[in-house]
Amino acid sequence: MNIEIDASAGFCGGVARAIRLAEQSIAEDEKIYCLGEIVHNQAELNRLSKKGLIFINEDQFRNLYNAKVIIRAHGEPPITYQIAQQNNNELIDATCRIVSKLQQKVKLVSATMSAVNGQIVIFGREDHPEVKGLIGNIHSAIIVIRNEEDLNKIDFKKPIHFFAQTTNSVHLFRELANKIESRMKLAQNEKFINLKVHETVCKQVSDLEQNLKLFAKKHEVIIFVGGANSSNAKHLFDLCKVQNQQSYFINDASQIDVNWFSEVKRVGITGATSTPKWLMEKVEQEIDKL
Ligand code: SF4
Repeated sequence: MNIEIDASAGFCGGVARAIRLAEQSIAEDEKIYCLGEIVHNQAELNRLSKKGLIFINEDQFRNLYNAKVIIRAHGEPPITYQIAQQNNNELIDATCRIVSKLQQKVKLVSATMSAVNGQIVIFGREDHPEVKGLIGNIHSAIIVIRNEEDLNKIDFKKPIHFFAQTTNSVHLFRELANKIESRMKLAQNEKFINLKVHETVCKQVSDLEQNLKLFAKKHEVIIFVGGANSSNAKHLFDLCKVQNQQSYFINDASQIDVNWFSEVKRVGITGATSTPKWLMEKVEQEIDKL
């Protein structure tokens, strides 16, 4: 049996940098905290916990004083920085540069939106840390949409700036942007509408989508390794499944089922931008043993 690990799968640059910073900090200091999960992958969180990284939630962060805290790649709203200052906490800011730029852009646009009674629409999840960080920078009307149904929340008679969470599907974003445009034209009965589409899906995520489609077709069986609570993993797995019905989602090597491989010659192992390479290699070793 030939087993291939997808070369394009694994940590995106932002997550890889955050983990690098975390490991450097743990090596230099005894107690390092991380606000929220540094990556949506339990196996990687366990590995970093064993090394000494302490994960805390927002409530614990509010009650933490004189400590060192890592801000993960998804970024944080301005209030987090204010609390850190009040509590005399030192922040190790691993916010991805692309996310920082997006926060700045959203902030700038928001300043112009109030004057024209416009709306900022974000394609993402309201409970996702990156979206929470963006919302914290906006001082005008904001609507977060997850799907086509949520378009009903939008007032199509008003100006719109449309953004995406960086880890979302570029394909779905474009579909939604087209639908917004059509509905604005209909609502305003005009050819020229005040819509600005900012395609802010990260290039690493959109490239991964393209590669994944080809990779999934190339193999008889696809093993997708991802975190149970990673929206990026879920979305990419769905893409895989469309291309290859013999695709299976696992969190780690313990979930491998020997029945998936009977008379199979080509197996592909892939994952999300939150899946560590070492975990895919471990899965490869286990399949190899079969
Ligand atoms: S997906 Fe892209 S923008 Fe988001 S953290 Fe990773 S590298 Fe940064």
